[in-house]
Amino acid sequence: IYWNFHQSYKMFEKFFELIFHKPMTGYQRTWARRFLLSKSFTLVAPTGVGKTTFGLVASLFSALHGKKSALVFPTISLAQQSFEKLNQFKSKIKNADAIRILLFNSSMTKSEKEEFEQRFLSQDFEILIVSSQFISKRKDVLSKMFFNLVFVDDVDAILKSSKNIDTLLQMIGFSEDEIEKATERLKNKNKENGQNTNLNTLKDKGMLIVSSATAKPQGLKPLLFRELLGFEIGRFTFNIRNITNIRIKKKSREKLLEIINILKDGILLFVNTEEEGKEIVKFLAENGVKIGTTWSNFDEEFELFKEGKLNVICGVSSYYGKLIRGIDLPERIKYCIFWETPSFRFSVDMDKAPRFVLERVFVEYLEDHPKLKEYFKNVETLQTEKLRQLVLKYISAESYNKIVQEIFSHLKITDDGKLVIPDVPTYIQGSGRTSRMFGMRLTKGVSILFEEDDTIFESLKSRLMFLLDEEWMDESEANFESLMVEVEESRKSRNEGFNVNDT
Ligand code: ADP
Ligand code: MG
Repeated sequence: IYWNFHQSYKMFEKFFELIFHKPMTGYQRTWARRFLLSKSFTLVAPTGVGKTTFGLVASLFSALHGKKSALVFPTISLAQQSFEKLNQFKSKIKNADAIRILLFNSSMTKSEKEEFEQRFLSQDFEILIVSSQFISKRKDVLSKMFFNLVFVDDVDAILKSSKNIDTLLQMIGFSEDEIEKATERLKNKNKENGQNTNLNTLKDKGMLIVSSATAKPQGLKPLLFRELLGFEIGRFTFNIRNITNIRIKKKSREKLLEIINILKDGILLFVNTEEEGKEIVKFLAENGVKIGTTWSNFDEEFELFKEGKLNVICGVSSYYGKLIRGIDLPERIKYCIFWETPSFRFSVDMDKAPRFVLERVFVEYLEDHPKLKEYFKNVETLQTEKLRQLVLKYISAESYNKIVQEIFSHLKITDDGKLVIPDVPTYIQGSGRTSRMFGMRLTKGVSILFEEDDTIFESLKSRLMFLLDEEWMDESEANFESLMVEVEESRKSRNEGFNVNDT
């Protein structure tokens, strides 16, 4: 019964190479993983990295497993091109007769149109290829059909109409009622950790993959995707967020002071230890920064921060730290600065890192195993050997070793023999303070990270990309002035009404 993820992945990999004669790119491998884990997701990447190709291969792979797909393109000519490519791919597959591909093309002759209509209505296809326009024109029929996979190429075109979003969600099995309720939830959501869909309700749903080169869909309706399709990865539920991440490579106090003087106010400063924090706070205070801390008189200083009498508040970045979890002040918190990447440090000894190893293995490879998830609750107490045996019930020893190797290839080992592992959840929680649902709005935040070490930075960045599709810029690319305007704008007009149809 337990689905062997690695076998499926190997199959998909072979399949891709069989029909495309080239191995998948890095991006495509990441997407393949998520596809095989049946997650609805967004492919965010520049053009030319293989999004469309991936969608075509995924639909053929699904068809071979008896599943129906719809491929939606922004124009008819792109739909036509993809139809041709798909047929070319199909010719490489043995037993491909079972894959019926149906294309809608507005320039078909009358009899062709009749034939299309008849096949469309009787669902005589495994793969349906249409244009965005077709989605709105035929929403009545489409919303009653069920597709295991809906792949929308270049989603920006289709998001222009909120009705289209409803139709897409209905095509993967959401009822009008579910969509309406989720819309309500989104409108009312301003609580921290507003809960996404219970994953159980996703069991009988299809998968929606949308591709975008820019992927900054605005407004409420696009958020509905996340609300309904869930964004739960491992034990962490992520909220919707709009955050620009900026890395500053050179870690200097003067630079920190300069940045604080630019941003001026509404800043959380995270340090890894209280000891280090005390030194930095002293330096900043001596240079005129109005700064409070969590380790002195937190309640009082936090109150001052809230009232605007302090501009910065400094705390230790640990997952359950006061600043990381306990506060929700969207008006006040606009920026956060990590004085270095939150991290765990272990001796180089597997037994000291079981929680992390399990997290990696679990989150990225075995997410669908409820039994494992149960064990995951108590990972702190779990020893490596127990973990290994547990994982080996589900995957081969070879795969396990590969995973462990992959994990360790991302790790940094310091001169004094410590293993350094970025604490990604803490980074996400901490930076998340700057971007919240506030009334009907999503506030914009900026998260600045001082990190000198490239290995640690790359490791944080790649996981953040995987979990949130969030991008980074270098300090040299960041325009603080315009970011600050955006940050302020997103906090205005709190009482503005919200029109669901305006997206
Ligand atoms: P996108 O939709 O992201 O713009 P495409 O799927 O159209 O990208 O692919 C862009 C180009 O790269 C195409 O010529 C395609 O044939 C090629 N391509 C796609 N995937 C691969 C791959 N894994 N290896 C080599 N070339 C690829
Ligand atoms: Mg494309």
